[in-house]
Amino acid sequence: MSEIFDSSEATDPGGAVPVPLAGTHVLLGERDPGTAERLAAALREHGASSVHVVDSPEAFLRAGGAPPAPVRFWDAAVWYSGFGGGEGSLGPFLEEWRARHPGIPVVVTDDAPSARLAVAALRGRAADLVERSDPDGLAVAVARAVAERADPLGVEGSGQGSLRMLVVGAHPDDVEIGLGGTIHRRAHSGWEVTVLTMSGGGNGGDPALRRKEAHRAAEVLGARLLMEDLPDGSMADDRSTVEAVERVVAEVAPDVVVVHSESDTHQDHRAVHRATLVACRKVARLACYQSPSATVAYRPNRFIELSEVDVEAKLAAIAAHHSQAASRWYLDEDLLRSTARYWGRFSQTRYAEPLELVHERNPLLF
Ligand SMILES: [Zn+2]
Repeated sequence: MSEIFDSSEATDPGGAVPVPLAGTHVLLGERDPGTAERLAAALREHGASSVHVVDSPEAFLRAGGAPPAPVRFWDAAVWYSGFGGGEGSLGPFLEEWRARHPGIPVVVTDDAPSARLAVAALRGRAADLVERSDPDGLAVAVARAVAERADPLGVEGSGQGSLRMLVVGAHPDDVEIGLGGTIHRRAHSGWEVTVLTMSGGGNGGDPALRRKEAHRAAEVLGARLLMEDLPDGSMADDRSTVEAVERVVAEVAPDVVVVHSESDTHQDHRAVHRATLVACRKVARLACYQSPSATVAYRPNRFIELSEVDVEAKLAAIAAHHSQAASRWYLDEDLLRSTARYWGRFSQTRYAEPLELVHERNPLLF
C-alpha cells in the first residue's frame, strides 16, 4: 500500500488536511450488527486505525482493560446506552469505567437521546452523547473526545501518586532541545520527570563543565537528572546500553518514556533510541522527540501544547548549556522558538512540541 493512503499516520506535515482519528484505536459497543458496521465504517473513514466491536456490556468491560493484540490502548470507547437499561444505569457505568480506565474517553450512543440521559452523561463526564443513527456525528464526537483527552500522551498514570515521565537523551542538551517545553509543563503540573543523559558529551567540550550545565538546565525545567558515561560519538545499542536504561526504568517506574527517534542522522541518537525501545518493552507508552539531527522521515503523531512560559523555560534551559550555546547553529533562540511555533499549527495552539508515539509499532512492546 502506498504510504500516502496509510491512515495510521496522523497528519502529513507536508500536507494540509489532518485526519482526525489517524492512528487511533476505538472500542465500539453496539448490539446490532448492521449499526455496528455503519458506525465502524464512519470511524475508519475518519482515520481510525482499528475499531473493535463488542456486542454486550460484559464484553465491553472485559475489552476495556484487555484490548486484543496488537492494540495496546484504546484511544476512545463508544458505549451503547441500551447495554445498561435506561438512564439510571449510565451514571454508575461511567463512574466504574473512569475508575478502571481513567485515560479513555467514552462517547455514549442512544436511539433518541433524552434530556435525562444527557444529564446523566454530563454528570458522569461522558465525552459526548450522540444518536446511534448518525455515524458521521459519532466520528466527529470521537475525534473531539480524542483531541480533548486529558493528556496528549494518552495516560493518566498507574493510579498511584504522581505520573512519572522518563526522558532519555544521548548527550547533554538533547532532551532540552527535543522536549524542554513539555518537561517544564509536566513538571509544573505535578509530574515527576527524570532526565537520563547517556554521556557527558566529551566531544562537545569539558565533560565536567558540561555536567554542571546539564544539572543547571534540569533544575530550570524542574526535572531530576541522571547521567551515564557512555563514549560520546561511539555509543552502541548493545547489552550494556540496554542495561543502563533498564536500571533507571526499574528505579523510576515511568508511565511514559520519551527518547530520540529512529529517524535521526546521528548514530548515538539511533543507538540510544534502539536500546531504549528494548529497555522499555514493558513501559506503557513510548514516544520520540525531535532532535536537530532528525531526518524528514520523522513523522510526529502527537503534539504537546506549550504556553509562553514553557517556551521561555525551554530556552532558558538550553541557554544554561553556555559552552554550546554560542557555537551550535541549532541552539539559535529564533530557530527554537519558530520551530515550536511551527508545530503549534498541528495542535491549534501557538506553540507545541511534536512526538512520534511508537508503542503500537514496536513489536517488542506487545
Ligand atoms: Zn545529541
